[in-house]
Formats: sequence, C-alpha cells, structure tokens
Amino acid sequence: MSAADPLVEVRDLEMHFPLTRGVIFQRQYGAVRAVDGISFSVARGETFGIVGESGCGKSTTGRLIMRLLEPTAGQLFFEGEEITHHGRRQLSTLRRDAQMVFQDPYSSLNPRKTVGSIIAEPFIIHREARDAEERRKEVRELMDRVGLNPEHYNRYPHQFSGGQRQRIGVARAIALKPKLLVADEPVSALDVSIQAQIINLLQDLQSELGLTLIFIAHDLSVVRHMCDRIAVMYLGKIAELAESERCFAQPRHPYTGALLASVPVPDPALAAAGRRPVLKGDVPSPSAPPPGCRFHTRCPKAQSLCAQEEPPLRELPGGSFAACHFPLGD
Ligand code: SF4
Repeated sequence: MSAADPLVEVRDLEMHFPLTRGVIFQRQYGAVRAVDGISFSVARGETFGIVGESGCGKSTTGRLIMRLLEPTAGQLFFEGEEITHHGRRQLSTLRRDAQMVFQDPYSSLNPRKTVGSIIAEPFIIHREARDAEERRKEVRELMDRVGLNPEHYNRYPHQFSGGQRQRIGVARAIALKPKLLVADEPVSALDVSIQAQIINLLQDLQSELGLTLIFIAHDLSVVRHMCDRIAVMYLGKIAELAESERCFAQPRHPYTGALLASVPVPDPALAAAGRRPVLKGDVPSPSAPPPGCRFHTRCPKAQSLCAQEEPPLRELPGGSFAACHFPLGD
C-alpha cells in the first residue's frame, strides 16, 4: 500500500465525532466513526482516487489530510514530516503546499468579492510579496490558464456558470503552485456535459505543474481514466486499494464489484455479459457499524464468518489489496 517517494502518508488514521446529549451538561453517548483506522500513501505526481457512497468517510479523509480536522488517532505525514498534531504556525507550510477544491462552487466563493480578488486571496493570506499591479497580472494569467476570460476580472461569482465557478475555485487553488491538490467531489454538482471539461482541466494542470492529486468521488466511472490508484471506502474503512485499471478489470472486494455494477454501460450486450449484483439496502449508521465485516449486511457473498471476524486489508495475488474473507476471483 506504500507508494515510492510518498508525498502524503496516512497511518491508522481515525476520526470519531462525539455524539452528545444534554444542553448544559453535555454527555457523550456514542461517536460517529467517520474514519476508522485507514492507512495508505500517495506518491509525488500520482493521482489517487478515494471513492465510496455518501457517509463512507472519503471527504473526512480529505479534510484530515488537509489538517482541517484534528484526527482522533493515527498519524499523518507530508513530505516525510509528521504533521498530525502541528499547530497553526507549524501548518503554514502545509497551507501553502496543499490546496483544496470543494464540491460546491456556489457556496465556496464569496458572493461579495470580485473574481479577481477571490483568486488573489492566497497571495494576500500568505503575504506573497507582490504589488497590486503584479498581482493583477498574475491573476489574469491564472484566469487564462483555467479557461476563464481575463476580461471578466471584475465580475462577481453569480455572473458565472457552475462550471466557470469551479474554474475560479481551481485558479485560486493553484495560485501558489501547490504540491498537493485535494479535489473533494469537484464535479458532482455540475452538469454531466461540464464534468469532463473540469476533469480535463485538472489533468492538464496536474501534468503542467507536476501536482499530486487526491480526487474524491462517489462515482467510480468519474475516476476511472484519471487515477493511477483507487481506494474504495466503506463505512470509514478501506475495502479495496488497487491500481485503477486492475480495480475495474478485476475487482476483488464484493463492494467494489457492486459499485461497478451500478456504473451505466452504454452497450446492453456488454452490460448483460459483465453483470454483477447491484447494491441493495442502505449503508448502516457509522455510529453503530455492523460487527465483523462492515459490508456483511449487504454483501451477496457473505458467510457466517463475515459477521464474526473483521477481515484485515491484505495483499492478494495480482497486487490488489482487499479487506475480505472471500474475495472475488478466488
Ligand atoms: Fe462479503 Fe464476507 Fe467479504 Fe465482507 S468478508 S465483503 S461480507 S464476503
């Protein structure tokens, strides 16, 4: 699971959000185990996908890597340095070198600021020594680079379409030439026709800037052609971690197989030939995950052992890692 020359490393990471009751004397009666002991690393220049249904912990993982959340347990490394418990001052390097693109381009931009001043924010926050004229020139270049018309510098976010607003978010994220970009469902709020444009933009920028990209998505088909490796998450844990093509050609975890079955296939004959069981039922609550394998309540291959013993994430012949007692293809 370890990448050569890792930029990001995650070890046994946990994020449990306490559930409390009582207004004055708040008492904890449980916890939402959003992320529950995950480990992986991301190599420099790699595109790493994190995929799963809503509530699987993928966005929380992205926010933990960005240190927007304080993990409950585990360790985080950036460029080999442990940053798990870094304070605000120590995190200043990470805040420059790691940037995030958010899911909703509508709410992540301040509606009262012009696009020019939104994209210039990182220069001001990180006290980049630029005078106003130089800053304006750089912002115009950034707008051009992400496919926006630099003449629209003084326009406001509401004057742009959804896809254009996401381009504004991308321009702001790459302003300081970060090493890492965490894109949290950057296309799921956009029309299908626009999604490919934003994905192509991120891929172009990645190769131009040598970025490492962590791409979070709920739809496997979105990450298929852009990611080198994919981690499939289920209820706070990694169910499968594999090279992208291998993950699609030969999924080893029944959950990955079921997710793939829900991806629409344009040719009905192909769809019938490759038919796999489609996911049934809802994801159990992350505050009370099922014992044993967390997927056993929905798994078409479940056996009695699955409800009793939690399967570890282990390497299988072929190089994929899967947390399953009875992997597909065995
Ligand atoms: Fe299914 Fe059992 Fe594998 Fe879990 S361990 S995914 S329940 S076969």
